[in-house]
Amino acid sequence: MSLPPLVEPAAELTVDEIRRYSRHLIIPDVGVEGQKRLKNARVLCVGAGGLGSPALMYLAAAGVGTLGIIDFDTVDESNLQRQIIHGVSDVGRSKAESAAASIREINPLVKVEIHNTALDRDNVREIFSQYDLIVDGTDNFATRYMVNDAAVLLGKPYVWGSIYRFDGQASVFWAEHGPCYRCLYPEPPPPGMVPSCAEGGVLGVLCASIGSIQVNEAIKLLAGIGEPLVGGLMVYDALEMSYRKIKVRKDPDCVLCGENPTVTDLLEDYEDFCGAVSVEAQEAVVDSTITALELKEWQDAGKDIFLVDVREPAEYEIVRIPGATLIPKGEIISGEALSRLPQDRQIVLHCKSGVRSAEALAALKAAGFRDAVHVQGGVLSWIKQIDPALPAY
Ligand SMILES: [Zn+2]
Repeated sequence: MSLPPLVEPAAELTVDEIRRYSRHLIIPDVGVEGQKRLKNARVLCVGAGGLGSPALMYLAAAGVGTLGIIDFDTVDESNLQRQIIHGVSDVGRSKAESAAASIREINPLVKVEIHNTALDRDNVREIFSQYDLIVDGTDNFATRYMVNDAAVLLGKPYVWGSIYRFDGQASVFWAEHGPCYRCLYPEPPPPGMVPSCAEGGVLGVLCASIGSIQVNEAIKLLAGIGEPLVGGLMVYDALEMSYRKIKVRKDPDCVLCGENPTVTDLLEDYEDFCGAVSVEAQEAVVDSTITALELKEWQDAGKDIFLVDVREPAEYEIVRIPGATLIPKGEIISGEALSRLPQDRQIVLHCKSGVRSAEALAALKAAGFRDAVHVQGGVLSWIKQIDPALPAY
Protein backbone atom coordinates (compact mmCIF):
# COMPACT_ATOMS: atom_id res chain seq x y z
CA MET A 1 0.00 0.00 0.00
CA SER A 2 1.35 3.41 -0.91
CA LEU A 3 -0.09 6.58 0.56
CA PRO A 4 -0.18 10.17 -0.68
CA PRO A 5 2.39 12.57 0.82
CA LEU A 6 1.47 13.88 4.25
CA VAL A 7 2.87 17.35 3.59
CA GLU A 8 2.60 19.88 0.77
CA PRO A 9 5.93 21.01 -0.68
CA ALA A 10 7.52 24.29 0.44
CA ALA A 11 7.67 27.00 -2.22
CA GLU A 12 11.38 26.63 -2.87
CA LEU A 13 14.75 25.44 -1.67
CA THR A 14 17.49 28.01 -1.08
CA VAL A 15 20.97 27.66 -2.56
CA ASP A 16 22.23 26.59 0.88
CA GLU A 17 19.56 23.93 1.08
CA ILE A 18 20.31 22.61 -2.41
CA ARG A 19 23.98 22.26 -1.47
CA ARG A 20 23.25 20.63 1.88
CA TYR A 21 20.65 18.15 0.66
CA SER A 22 22.23 17.29 -2.71
CA ARG A 23 22.52 13.57 -1.88
CA HIS A 24 18.79 13.48 -1.30
CA LEU A 25 17.95 15.59 -4.35
CA ILE A 26 19.65 13.20 -6.75
CA ILE A 27 17.57 10.23 -5.51
CA PRO A 28 14.75 10.11 -8.06
CA ASP A 29 12.12 9.11 -5.47
CA VAL A 30 12.98 12.07 -3.23
CA GLY A 31 14.11 14.78 -5.60
CA VAL A 32 13.54 18.49 -5.13
CA GLU A 33 9.86 17.96 -4.51
CA GLY A 34 10.42 15.40 -1.76
CA GLN A 35 12.97 17.66 -0.08
CA LYS A 36 10.53 20.58 -0.27
CA ARG A 37 7.96 18.42 1.50
CA LEU A 38 10.46 17.62 4.26
CA LYS A 39 11.20 21.34 4.57
CA ASN A 40 7.52 22.06 5.11
CA ALA A 41 7.05 19.18 7.57
CA ARG A 42 6.44 19.51 11.29
CA VAL A 43 7.43 16.42 13.27
CA LEU A 44 7.10 15.95 17.02
CA CYS A 45 9.38 13.55 18.84
CA VAL A 46 7.97 12.36 22.16
CA GLY A 47 11.00 11.83 24.37
CA ALA A 48 14.62 12.80 23.72
CA GLY A 49 15.96 9.54 25.12
CA GLY A 50 17.13 6.27 23.62
CA LEU A 51 14.94 6.31 20.52
CA GLY A 52 14.48 10.07 20.40
CA SER A 53 18.25 10.65 20.19
CA PRO A 54 18.96 8.96 16.84
CA ALA A 55 15.51 9.88 15.55
CA LEU A 56 15.96 13.60 16.19
CA MET A 57 19.51 13.64 14.84
CA TYR A 58 18.56 11.99 11.54
CA LEU A 59 15.32 13.94 11.16
CA ALA A 60 17.35 17.12 11.62
CA ALA A 61 20.06 16.04 9.20
CA ALA A 62 17.41 15.05 6.66
CA GLY A 63 16.04 18.58 6.62
CA VAL A 64 12.67 18.19 8.34
CA GLY A 65 11.77 21.86 8.63
CA THR A 66 10.33 21.93 12.15
CA LEU A 67 11.14 19.51 14.91
CA GLY A 68 9.24 19.50 18.19
CA ILE A 69 10.82 17.91 21.24
CA ILE A 70 8.81 17.02 24.30
CA ASP A 71 10.72 15.84 27.34
CA PHE A 72 10.64 17.02 30.98
CA ASP A 73 13.59 14.93 32.13
CA THR A 74 17.20 15.98 32.65
CA VAL A 75 20.28 14.24 31.28
CA ASP A 76 21.76 11.65 33.61
CA GLU A 77 25.14 9.98 33.32
CA SER A 78 23.45 6.60 32.81
CA ASN A 79 21.74 7.99 29.67
CA LEU A 80 24.99 8.51 27.78
CA GLN A 81 25.42 4.78 26.97
CA ARG A 82 22.68 5.13 24.34
CA GLN A 83 21.21 8.65 24.21
CA ILE A 84 23.80 9.96 21.79
CA ILE A 85 22.21 13.35 21.24
CA HIS A 86 23.48 14.29 24.73
CA GLY A 87 27.09 14.63 25.88
CA VAL A 88 29.07 14.77 29.11
CA SER A 89 28.67 18.53 29.41
CA ASP A 90 24.87 18.10 29.21
CA VAL A 91 24.56 16.01 32.39
CA GLY A 92 22.04 17.76 34.63
CA ARG A 93 20.67 19.85 31.76
CA SER A 94 17.12 19.56 30.40
CA LYS A 95 17.00 16.82 27.75
CA ALA A 96 14.85 18.96 25.47
CA GLU A 97 17.34 21.86 25.67
CA SER A 98 20.32 19.58 25.21
CA ALA A 99 18.74 17.87 22.20
CA ALA A 100 17.84 21.23 20.68
CA ALA A 101 21.46 22.39 20.98
CA SER A 102 22.71 19.24 19.21
CA ILE A 103 20.15 19.69 16.44
CA ARG A 104 21.28 23.28 15.87
CA GLU A 105 24.82 21.98 15.52
CA ILE A 106 23.76 19.28 13.00
CA ASN A 107 21.49 21.52 10.95
CA PRO A 108 20.86 25.19 11.78
CA LEU A 109 18.21 25.34 9.03
CA VAL A 110 15.86 23.27 11.21
CA LYS A 111 13.45 25.13 13.46
CA VAL A 112 13.27 23.53 16.90
CA GLU A 113 10.27 23.83 19.19
CA ILE A 114 10.90 22.82 22.77
CA HIS A 115 8.14 21.48 25.01
CA ASN A 116 9.94 21.20 28.32
CA THR A 117 7.02 19.57 30.07
CA ALA A 118 5.49 16.18 30.78
CA LEU A 119 3.00 15.10 28.16
CA ASP A 120 -0.35 14.75 29.89
CA ARG A 121 -4.05 14.50 29.28
CA ASP A 122 -4.44 18.27 29.39
CA ASN A 123 -1.73 19.25 26.89
CA VAL A 124 -1.42 16.29 24.53
CA ARG A 125 -4.13 17.36 22.06
CA GLU A 126 -2.95 20.94 21.87
CA ILE A 127 0.68 19.86 21.32
CA PHE A 128 -0.05 17.05 18.83
CA SER A 129 -2.35 19.23 16.74
CA GLN A 130 0.61 21.48 15.88
CA TYR A 131 2.39 18.66 14.04
CA ASP A 132 1.95 16.53 10.91
CA LEU A 133 3.50 13.41 12.36
CA ILE A 134 4.48 12.06 15.77
CA VAL A 135 7.54 9.92 16.48
CA ASP A 136 7.00 8.02 19.70
CA GLY A 137 10.12 7.33 21.72
CA THR A 138 8.43 6.82 25.08
CA ASP A 139 9.51 4.08 27.42
CA ASN A 140 6.41 3.48 29.50
CA PHE A 141 2.99 2.05 28.81
CA ALA A 142 0.95 4.89 30.30
CA THR A 143 2.42 7.47 27.91
CA ARG A 144 2.37 5.02 25.01
CA TYR A 145 -1.39 4.44 25.32
CA MET A 146 -1.98 8.15 25.71
CA VAL A 147 0.09 8.92 22.59
CA ASN A 148 -1.89 6.31 20.67
CA ASP A 149 -5.27 7.51 21.86
CA ALA A 150 -4.51 11.16 21.16
CA ALA A 151 -3.10 10.34 17.70
CA VAL A 152 -6.19 8.30 16.79
CA LEU A 153 -8.61 10.92 18.13
CA LEU A 154 -6.80 13.65 16.15
CA GLY A 155 -6.38 11.50 13.03
CA LYS A 156 -2.57 11.80 13.16
CA PRO A 157 -0.18 9.09 12.02
CA TYR A 158 2.61 8.14 14.37
CA VAL A 159 5.72 6.05 14.19
CA TRP A 160 6.17 3.82 17.19
CA GLY A 161 9.25 2.01 18.43
CA SER A 162 10.14 -0.05 21.47
CA ILE A 163 13.38 -1.51 22.75
CA TYR A 164 14.43 -3.96 25.45
CA ARG A 165 17.80 -5.66 25.89
CA PHE A 166 18.49 -7.08 22.39
CA ASP A 167 14.93 -6.88 21.05
CA GLY A 168 13.26 -4.08 19.18
CA GLN A 169 9.93 -3.43 17.50
CA ALA A 170 8.63 -0.68 15.25
CA SER A 171 5.45 0.13 13.41
CA VAL A 172 3.41 2.96 11.93
CA PHE A 173 0.00 3.40 13.51
CA TRP A 174 -2.56 5.36 11.57
CA ALA A 175 -6.18 4.44 12.27
CA GLU A 176 -7.38 6.03 9.04
CA HIS A 177 -5.37 3.54 6.98
CA GLY A 178 -4.61 0.66 9.31
CA PRO A 179 -4.41 -0.57 12.89
CA CYS A 180 -3.63 1.45 16.00
CA TYR A 181 -1.50 0.40 18.97
CA ARG A 182 -4.59 -0.87 20.78
CA CYS A 183 -5.41 -3.16 17.82
CA LEU A 184 -2.01 -4.79 18.41
CA TYR A 185 -1.97 -4.55 22.21
CA PRO A 186 -5.56 -4.13 23.47
CA GLU A 187 -4.52 -4.33 27.12
CA PRO A 188 -1.43 -3.09 28.91
CA PRO A 189 0.62 -5.92 30.41
CA PRO A 190 -0.06 -6.68 34.09
CA PRO A 191 2.03 -4.45 36.36
CA GLY A 192 5.47 -5.88 36.98
CA MET A 193 5.25 -8.32 34.04
CA VAL A 194 7.29 -6.33 31.55
CA PRO A 195 10.41 -4.80 33.03
CA SER A 196 11.39 -1.32 31.88
CA CYS A 197 14.81 -0.63 30.36
CA ALA A 198 15.81 0.84 33.73
CA GLU A 199 15.07 -2.53 35.31
CA GLY A 200 16.05 -4.92 32.53
CA GLY A 201 18.64 -3.01 30.54
CA VAL A 202 18.98 -2.20 26.86
CA LEU A 203 21.84 -2.58 24.42
CA GLY A 204 22.74 0.99 23.51
CA VAL A 205 23.10 0.47 19.78
CA LEU A 206 19.64 -1.11 19.61
CA CYS A 207 18.29 2.45 19.88
CA ALA A 208 19.96 3.31 16.57
CA SER A 209 18.56 0.21 14.85
CA ILE A 210 14.98 0.99 15.86
CA GLY A 211 15.29 4.80 15.81
CA SER A 212 16.55 4.69 12.23
CA ILE A 213 13.56 2.56 11.17
CA GLN A 214 11.32 5.21 12.73
CA VAL A 215 13.03 8.02 10.81
CA ASN A 216 12.92 5.98 7.61
CA GLU A 217 9.16 5.56 7.99
CA ALA A 218 8.67 9.22 8.95
CA ILE A 219 10.45 10.39 5.80
CA LYS A 220 8.43 8.01 3.62
CA LEU A 221 5.14 9.23 5.09
CA LEU A 222 6.05 12.91 4.82
CA ALA A 223 7.23 12.65 1.23
CA GLY A 224 4.76 9.97 0.15
CA ILE A 225 7.36 7.49 -1.09
CA GLY A 226 7.59 3.71 -0.86
CA GLU A 227 5.40 1.43 1.21
CA PRO A 228 4.82 2.74 4.72
CA LEU A 229 4.90 0.31 7.63
CA VAL A 230 1.17 0.80 8.20
CA GLY A 231 -0.29 -2.59 9.15
CA GLY A 232 3.18 -4.06 9.59
CA LEU A 233 5.23 -4.77 12.70
CA MET A 234 9.01 -4.98 12.40
CA VAL A 235 10.54 -7.31 14.95
CA TYR A 236 14.30 -7.06 15.31
CA ASP A 237 16.46 -9.56 17.20
CA ALA A 238 19.99 -8.21 17.54
CA LEU A 239 21.40 -11.49 18.89
CA GLU A 240 20.13 -13.52 15.95
CA MET A 241 20.51 -10.53 13.65
CA SER A 242 17.10 -11.05 12.17
CA TYR A 243 14.41 -8.63 11.05
CA ARG A 244 10.93 -10.05 10.66
CA LYS A 245 7.95 -8.22 9.31
CA ILE A 246 4.62 -9.36 10.74
CA LYS A 247 1.23 -8.33 9.39
CA VAL A 248 -0.97 -6.52 11.89
CA ARG A 249 -4.62 -6.14 11.05
CA LYS A 250 -7.01 -3.48 12.18
CA ASP A 251 -9.18 -5.01 14.89
CA PRO A 252 -12.85 -4.40 14.07
CA ASP A 253 -13.53 -4.74 17.82
CA CYS A 254 -10.81 -2.24 18.81
CA VAL A 255 -12.26 -0.09 21.60
CA LEU A 256 -10.69 3.00 20.04
CA CYS A 257 -10.58 2.65 16.25
CA GLY A 258 -12.98 -0.29 15.72
CA GLU A 259 -16.49 -0.27 14.36
CA ASN A 260 -18.18 0.50 17.68
CA PRO A 261 -15.62 2.39 19.72
CA THR A 262 -16.20 2.74 23.44
CA VAL A 263 -13.16 4.91 24.05
CA THR A 264 -14.13 8.22 22.47
CA ASP A 265 -12.03 10.56 24.56
CA LEU A 266 -8.72 10.43 26.38
CA LEU A 267 -8.78 8.34 29.56
CA GLU A 268 -8.93 10.15 32.87
CA ASP A 269 -5.76 8.49 34.17
CA TYR A 270 -3.36 6.48 32.04
CA GLU A 271 -1.13 5.58 35.00
CA ASP A 272 -4.15 4.03 36.60
CA PHE A 273 -5.11 2.24 33.37
CA CYS A 274 -1.65 0.70 33.16
CA GLY A 275 -1.42 0.17 36.92
CA ALA A 276 2.16 1.04 37.87
CA VAL A 277 1.73 -1.32 40.80
CA SER A 278 -0.84 -4.11 41.06
CA VAL A 279 -3.78 -3.84 43.44
CA GLU A 280 -2.36 -6.71 45.54
CA ALA A 281 0.96 -4.92 45.88
CA GLN A 282 -0.74 -1.62 46.73
CA GLU A 283 -2.61 -3.37 49.52
CA ALA A 284 0.43 -5.30 50.73
CA VAL A 285 2.58 -2.22 51.31
CA VAL A 286 0.07 -0.46 53.57
CA ASP A 287 1.62 -0.36 57.08
CA SER A 288 4.39 -2.64 55.79
CA THR A 289 6.77 -0.12 54.30
CA ILE A 290 9.95 1.24 55.84
CA THR A 291 12.33 3.89 54.54
CA ALA A 292 16.00 3.33 53.79
CA LEU A 293 16.75 5.41 56.86
CA GLU A 294 14.67 3.09 59.05
CA LEU A 295 16.44 0.07 57.58
CA LYS A 296 19.78 1.62 58.50
CA GLU A 297 18.53 2.30 62.04
CA TRP A 298 17.35 -1.30 62.38
CA GLN A 299 20.74 -2.56 61.19
CA ASP A 300 22.66 -0.21 63.50
CA ALA A 301 20.49 -1.21 66.45
CA GLY A 302 21.32 -4.87 65.77
CA LYS A 303 17.72 -5.83 65.10
CA ASP A 304 17.40 -9.44 63.90
CA ILE A 305 16.37 -8.85 60.30
CA PHE A 306 16.64 -10.96 57.17
CA LEU A 307 17.23 -8.54 54.29
CA VAL A 308 16.24 -9.89 50.89
CA ASP A 309 17.26 -8.26 47.61
CA VAL A 310 14.65 -9.29 45.05
CA ARG A 311 16.46 -7.86 42.04
CA GLU A 312 18.30 -9.89 39.39
CA PRO A 313 21.86 -11.23 39.83
CA ALA A 314 23.35 -8.72 37.35
CA GLU A 315 21.92 -5.84 39.38
CA TYR A 316 23.22 -7.36 42.63
CA GLU A 317 26.69 -7.41 41.01
CA ILE A 318 26.53 -3.67 40.32
CA VAL A 319 25.54 -2.46 43.76
CA ARG A 320 24.04 -3.96 46.89
CA ILE A 321 22.88 -2.95 50.34
CA PRO A 322 25.24 -4.47 52.93
CA GLY A 323 23.88 -7.67 54.45
CA ALA A 324 21.34 -8.37 51.73
CA THR A 325 20.70 -11.89 50.44
CA LEU A 326 19.82 -12.17 46.75
CA ILE A 327 16.54 -13.94 45.99
CA PRO A 328 15.10 -12.71 42.65
CA LYS A 329 11.44 -11.73 42.68
CA GLY A 330 10.47 -14.56 40.31
CA GLU A 331 11.57 -17.19 42.85
CA ILE A 332 9.43 -15.58 45.54
CA ILE A 333 6.36 -15.21 43.33
CA SER A 334 6.64 -18.83 42.14
CA GLY A 335 6.97 -20.00 45.74
CA GLU A 336 10.28 -21.72 44.96
CA ALA A 337 12.26 -19.64 47.46
CA LEU A 338 9.78 -19.62 50.34
CA SER A 339 11.50 -22.54 52.15
CA ARG A 340 14.72 -20.50 52.26
CA LEU A 341 13.09 -17.72 54.26
CA PRO A 342 13.31 -17.80 58.06
CA GLN A 343 9.99 -17.92 59.94
CA ASP A 344 11.36 -16.32 63.12
CA ARG A 345 13.14 -13.24 61.82
CA GLN A 346 11.91 -9.89 60.52
CA ILE A 347 11.95 -10.14 56.74
CA VAL A 348 12.77 -6.95 54.84
CA LEU A 349 12.49 -6.93 51.04
CA HIS A 350 14.02 -4.41 48.69
CA CYS A 351 14.58 -3.95 44.95
CA LYS A 352 15.84 -1.04 42.87
CA SER A 353 12.96 1.41 43.24
CA GLY A 354 10.32 -0.34 45.36
CA VAL A 355 7.96 -1.70 42.66
CA ARG A 356 9.25 -5.26 42.44
CA SER A 357 9.66 -5.54 46.20
CA ALA A 358 6.02 -4.49 46.61
CA GLU A 359 4.96 -7.31 44.25
CA ALA A 360 7.15 -9.79 46.15
CA LEU A 361 5.75 -8.52 49.45
CA ALA A 362 2.21 -9.28 48.27
CA ALA A 363 3.27 -12.86 47.45
CA LEU A 364 5.02 -13.28 50.83
CA LYS A 365 2.05 -12.00 52.79
CA ALA A 366 -0.25 -14.34 50.86
CA ALA A 367 2.10 -17.17 51.85
CA GLY A 368 1.73 -16.30 55.53
CA PHE A 369 4.71 -14.02 56.18
CA ARG A 370 2.44 -11.42 57.77
CA ASP A 371 5.20 -9.28 59.34
CA ALA A 372 7.32 -8.86 56.22
CA VAL A 373 8.01 -5.30 55.08
CA HIS A 374 9.63 -3.67 52.07
CA VAL A 375 11.90 -0.67 51.63
CA GLN A 376 10.33 2.33 49.94
CA GLY A 377 12.43 3.47 46.98
CA GLY A 378 14.75 0.45 47.21
CA VAL A 379 18.46 0.68 46.45
CA LEU A 380 18.04 4.10 44.88
CA SER A 381 16.73 5.51 48.18
CA TRP A 382 19.49 3.77 50.10
CA ILE A 383 22.09 5.44 47.89
CA LYS A 384 20.43 8.82 48.19
CA GLN A 385 19.85 8.76 51.95
CA ILE A 386 22.61 6.53 53.30
CA ASP A 387 25.53 6.09 50.95
CA PRO A 388 25.79 8.53 48.02
CA ALA A 389 29.19 7.07 47.11
CA LEU A 390 27.51 3.94 45.74
CA PRO A 391 26.69 3.94 42.01
CA ALA A 392 23.05 4.68 41.16
CA TYR A 393 22.41 2.68 38.01
ZN1 LIG B 1 -7.28 0.20 17.03
